[in-house]
Amino acid sequence: MKTILRGLKTVLIGLLLAGCALQPAAQAPSAPKLIVFMVVDGLPQHQVVDYRDQLAPDGLRRFLDRGAWFSEAHYGHAFTVTAAGHAAMLTGAYPHRTGIIGNEWRDPATGELEYCTGDTAHTYIGHRTAKFDGTSPRNLKVETVGDVLKRMSPASKVIAISGKDRGAILPAGKTGTAYMYMSETGQFASSTYYMREHPAWVKDFHATRPADRYFHADWKPLLAEAAYSRSLPDNQKWYARGGSLPRKLGEGMDQPGPLFYATLLASPYGDALTLDFARAAIRGEQLGADDAPDILSVSLSTHDYVNHAYGAESRLSHDHLLQLDRLLQAFFRDLDATVGKDSYVLVLTADHGFMPVPEYSRTQGHDSGRLNGSQALARMNQGLAGQFGAGSWVKYISGRSFILDRKLAAERAVDLATLTEATRRLALAEPGILVAYTHAELESGSRKGQPYFEAMQKAWNRELSGDVDFALKPYWLIGSGTTGTTHGSPHRYDTHVPILFYGPAWVRPGRVDARVEEVDIAPTLSRMLGIPAPSAAEGKPLPLP
Ligand SMILES: [Zn+2]
Repeated sequence: MKTILRGLKTVLIGLLLAGCALQPAAQAPSAPKLIVFMVVDGLPQHQVVDYRDQLAPDGLRRFLDRGAWFSEAHYGHAFTVTAAGHAAMLTGAYPHRTGIIGNEWRDPATGELEYCTGDTAHTYIGHRTAKFDGTSPRNLKVETVGDVLKRMSPASKVIAISGKDRGAILPAGKTGTAYMYMSETGQFASSTYYMREHPAWVKDFHATRPADRYFHADWKPLLAEAAYSRSLPDNQKWYARGGSLPRKLGEGMDQPGPLFYATLLASPYGDALTLDFARAAIRGEQLGADDAPDILSVSLSTHDYVNHAYGAESRLSHDHLLQLDRLLQAFFRDLDATVGKDSYVLVLTADHGFMPVPEYSRTQGHDSGRLNGSQALARMNQGLAGQFGAGSWVKYISGRSFILDRKLAAERAVDLATLTEATRRLALAEPGILVAYTHAELESGSRKGQPYFEAMQKAWNRELSGDVDFALKPYWLIGSGTTGTTHGSPHRYDTHVPILFYGPAWVRPGRVDARVEEVDIAPTLSRMLGIPAPSAAEGKPLPLP
């Protein structure tokens, strides 16, 4: 009986489609009412599939079982950090075009520190604003899908939410609205760039002090111990603070305060709170309620903090992924109920992957280590002193650039090109540095075809980058710490990220193994929305199944 019904259904759909074919407008489905763009900060693609058997039926598996997913999606730029990734996603462009070359960088001419979303002309609403807090997209040089959408469809709304200011501001583009978590109060705030006062729904959300609900909450492993046999046990000597579960939030504190609110973001409850705020935004802004398509971007920050502290190979990270998966399932089901199953398209990606902890990599037989940046600078300056006389010739490491003291070079009549080339050679002598190219080489493209050159060109910007750019060897990081790990390389563990789509009316299910790029997402969404791709986009629409 079921088969007959299904057969009948197919015939009916066939007849309907044949009828529709007479009207050209019906060839493409109309635009989704809402695009829900989810980012998991610091999620390597392998973590999505490693625990597939332990995922909930309707969290990440919604994409794997019933959506479209790309098994070889990569970033193409070399310095894979949060701001650079978040700027690329909805602009479809890498840092050489977006101008967001890192989370922070130094002006190569003045040495002045610049924060990716810093803008002293603006302040947080109802909150203290520190010098390097992110308050506007001033440094973002290009438009996003949302900017184009709002230009073409003024009734459309673009809202971006994140635990981190850069995770909200960069996807929001120039004309969307960003809300970010304030770790002093446990609230989400926007800035004066976007508005003078929060709308009522934001005030209502905070009136019940939702962050305080998680005070003294326990983070307990979700599954029985045996489920974690494929990840590294707690309390490895290279773990940062508190490397074990269970853990009580706000342990030893009498009441919620800034320390509690700050640590909340490093537990699954940080993402839970962010998703609660996203639900409030959907209701408050009536996202997906009318025919003008809206975009909601939600960047979940916690996984990045967990992976920094313990590595993606840890049981803590494994458990965090499972916790996140359950939060996503609840959120997706709420979307079905509030926005409507066939009204929205869901996308999930990450801003970068993660490098295993160097000390762990060593146990796996890899050449790995930690390069101390200030020690590297001291050694390089010693080397340069032999050639050019005593002095701090290399002043700063800015992102993955060395910045030279051009003033000193001018004073001592040292040829800048000679000094730059000597710096490049000394950089290559540093333990952990794999390749180094000069500003002139990156600008002219003269080393095209050499290892990582093109990825480094995409990460490089003429006005913002320094004199010599470098990339680290695999399994090496740069930093003064002795625990945990990071990301920021052109290597597979950092570039390989999930790109997952779900939305039955627009996306056929299936796995695509062709290599695709993160910058392909923006033109794909533009096509779904029926609008031109952002003007600086360098990707092409994804080969959806
Ligand atoms: Zn990070």
